Amino acid sequence: MDLAAAPPALLVRRHLHVAGAWVDPADGEAIPVENPATGEIVGQVPAGTPADVDRAVAAARAAFPGWAATAPAERAAHLDRLHAALAARAEAIAHTVALELGTPLKLATRVQAGLPLTVLRSMVELAARPPAEQTVGNSLVVREPVGVVGAITPWNYPLHQVVAKVAPALAAGCTVVLKPSELTPLTAYLLFDAVSEAGLPAGVINLVPGTGPVVGEALAAHPDVDLVSFTGSTATGRRVAHLVADRIARVALELGGKSANLILADADLPTAVKVGIGNAFLNSGQTCTAWTRLLVHRDRYAEALDLIATAVASYRTGDPFDPATRLGPLVSAAQAERVRGHVERALADGARLVAGGPDVPLPPRGHFVAPTVFADVHPDSALAQEEVFGPVLAVIPFDDTDEAVAIANNSRYGLAGAVWSADENQALAVARRLRTGQVDINGGAFNPLAPFGGYKQSGLGRELGPAGVEEFTELKAIQR
Ligand code: NAD
Repeated sequence: MDLAAAPPALLVRRHLHVAGAWVDPADGEAIPVENPATGEIVGQVPAGTPADVDRAVAAARAAFPGWAATAPAERAAHLDRLHAALAARAEAIAHTVALELGTPLKLATRVQAGLPLTVLRSMVELAARPPAEQTVGNSLVVREPVGVVGAITPWNYPLHQVVAKVAPALAAGCTVVLKPSELTPLTAYLLFDAVSEAGLPAGVINLVPGTGPVVGEALAAHPDVDLVSFTGSTATGRRVAHLVADRIARVALELGGKSANLILADADLPTAVKVGIGNAFLNSGQTCTAWTRLLVHRDRYAEALDLIATAVASYRTGDPFDPATRLGPLVSAAQAERVRGHVERALADGARLVAGGPDVPLPPRGHFVAPTVFADVHPDSALAQEEVFGPVLAVIPFDDTDEAVAIANNSRYGLAGAVWSADENQALAVARRLRTGQVDINGGAFNPLAPFGGYKQSGLGRELGPAGVEEFTELKAIQR
């Protein structure tokens, strides 16, 4: 698509943000942005090139010494102004995410706009009080910012995933080049409108939109990027890790998941099912931490399946801007096709369809998939092992707690999980046995200060809170 030929009604962004200014990209190619609820093109952004990455990394490198030397209180004041400028755009953020991703507006307002503001607020406070220096024997151990950070983010929580990297990196004293997902780049532009308004020092944070194979790879392979922080699929994470390994730089990976929700025999079943379904289908199931395997004690299995069918029947699929909509479309035609493929495969593998499926009527346009639940799913089957990233839930019975833990841990992923039991000590004992980075007991609330990340192929490193800031530091030992 030629940038100059774009119709004015589109959300057209023509620039990169480099060294504190909106600048022209090296060439005029553009990436169209689609509304997945209708299939219409609603915007476009430049398709960045390796030359654009070079320029942005040079700007970040030039800004690094000054930003790293800036007093913590001053860095916090900059982040505070950024928070105010972003908060002023909360409504625009929610609308933009509803438009380019299809998240229902109510959820987009609460989570897609609200959560990044909460995280940024936490980073204002953490920037003001950097990690304490330690004395170990005759050594003074200090933490220093790692340097220039390349941030590569996915489309499913397009602002949250950006802020979860950019804010702690800036708080730690690093400078950043961001490449947002090419499927949802418009939300990142709102962040950079806020960056401009907040008057952050030039080059501290830079934006190069573009595709993964071009801009993502150029950033991951760039010799002057000290740490690559990546969120996305495990397959792409592996590729990014290879590129970074070739030049022995630092890498942080937040990848996929296949999280298990364990409902023990003594659980409050109606609540556990209601919250479990809500979690599995959040953002049309396009959530890395989604509890996509529901493990239920056999004594409560039949009762649980009835509750599940009733809960799923209340999910309305449709226009993200309609207040009655619970489930929007999937992000793209390709994603919807992939999810339908998983449903077909589960049917072929003999899983029992208890809700949804391929025959449910859907809106005539857009990339919709019906919320779908399979029971009696074999723990080794593709549906129980592969990340679907759509509104598809696998229900699996178990006979005792040991078996439940074994099924839960029978995964190459280890991102999240949940346990429900009337006996909190029992739930805690089970939580300790799960090989995952987070576990929620009886619906425990998301904590933006808690470390977030995965075991096994769900990733390397942690985001959010003090652990998230430490990710962007190097340790130095000074002997005296
Ligand atoms: P993706 O891996 O396709 O893309 C993620 C980002 O990587 C995008 O910006 C993309 O342009 C870029 N990219 C693609 N190919 C690249 C390459 N060769 N080199 C460098 N960059 C490249 O993932 P997605 O489809 O955007 O997101 C969905 C995936 O993200 C799911 O697997 C989900 O589980 C995962 N995810 C994980 C977390 C977490 O915190 N663990 C959070 C959200 C999403």
